[in-house]
Amino acid sequence: MEKLFSLLKQNYDEMVGIRRHLHQNPELSFEEVETPKYIAAYHERLGHEVRTGVGGRGVVATLRGSKPGKTVALRADFDALPIQEENEVPYKSKIDGVMHACGHDGHTATLLVLAKVLNQMREELEGTIVFIHQHAEELAPGGAIAMVEDGCLDGVDVIFGTHLWATSPVGEIGYRTGPTLAAADRFHITVKGKGGHGAQPHLTKDSVVIASQLVVNLQQIVSRRVDPLDSAVISIGSFEAKNAFNVIADTVELTGTVRTFREEVRTKVESEIKRVTKGTCLAADAEFSYQFIRGYPPMVNHKEETEFVAKLAPAVPGVTETLEMQPQMGGEDFAYYLEKVPGTFFISGAKIAAREETFPHHHPKFDIDEKGLLIAANVLGASTLTYLKNGGVRIPDKEKAGLV
Ligand code: MN
Repeated sequence: MEKLFSLLKQNYDEMVGIRRHLHQNPELSFEEVETPKYIAAYHERLGHEVRTGVGGRGVVATLRGSKPGKTVALRADFDALPIQEENEVPYKSKIDGVMHACGHDGHTATLLVLAKVLNQMREELEGTIVFIHQHAEELAPGGAIAMVEDGCLDGVDVIFGTHLWATSPVGEIGYRTGPTLAAADRFHITVKGKGGHGAQPHLTKDSVVIASQLVVNLQQIVSRRVDPLDSAVISIGSFEAKNAFNVIADTVELTGTVRTFREEVRTKVESEIKRVTKGTCLAADAEFSYQFIRGYPPMVNHKEETEFVAKLAPAVPGVTETLEMQPQMGGEDFAYYLEKVPGTFFISGAKIAAREETFPHHHPKFDIDEKGLLIAANVLGASTLTYLKNGGVRIPDKEKAGLV
């Protein structure tokens, strides 16, 4: 294991170089061309089996160890966001209006250099490592579901992934078992009444009154229909009835978002919104249309795999704190991998301590401390080697506190 850490440290400058190259040349979700080419070329130089165009634009590279064993998958996403960078740094984005504002450049650099180092250790490797470089994490339906359908998890026993986190200090590893990131869905409702003169409401079906009632009725889903021990959010984001002051609106358009952590709750909320809409409109003799558009499912980390990483992380160089994190209402399409194979997705701190103000993910001034990349690579590498060495997540008792 010491060899892994020392090789990663020796290759840290290259990791930073790759991250900065990608940062300067970001590509939007589902429009990635040069990034997957760059990734594929890197793995080809290492002599890995490389499959491109996986699920559209993904790249999957395979490293086979000299000895037989289990198969570990490691995933990094590589898309950027439609944001104009406001950082004045030498590695500032060269593409107008496009920016790596979520750290996916760092994820890719981490995984590429880790692949190089694990390749240098292939004589000792007992099993196979699959590097999943995923396109389009930022835009539903996302790249993960298509890559899974295209076989990127075939033969995989376990998957590990991490997200560099700009608001957590370098050295901090955040883990959590169970639902960790939320399902993020949207809905559209059209209430169709009957327009008319503002002075003659009895000749109309006032869609503004009906839709107003609907907004109030929808509040009862979370408060009265969802188990209080579950989490759910229904927020109406827009309410539109374009009209004149003395005209009763014919239709109202409503849009909103739903966040949940469990599939049962998600499905229940989806059908409850429909039922309440139908009932409210029926009472007012109005018509409606309802569309519920699913985003990513909730991301649910597996217990044994999460505990495995949490147990070995404290002994990894650079890790100063291993914390159980709170669930967050944001979404991640890593959720799809975890629906197919056991694994865990953890947070690696990458906050720039010297900055007066820390900017969150998706902000035009978002940036990361690159030392977080090395620590992320150390934890991913240690998890992979320990898993392969032990043929699973069970760490033998004598090594509980440390690594193999
Ligand atoms: Mn992200």
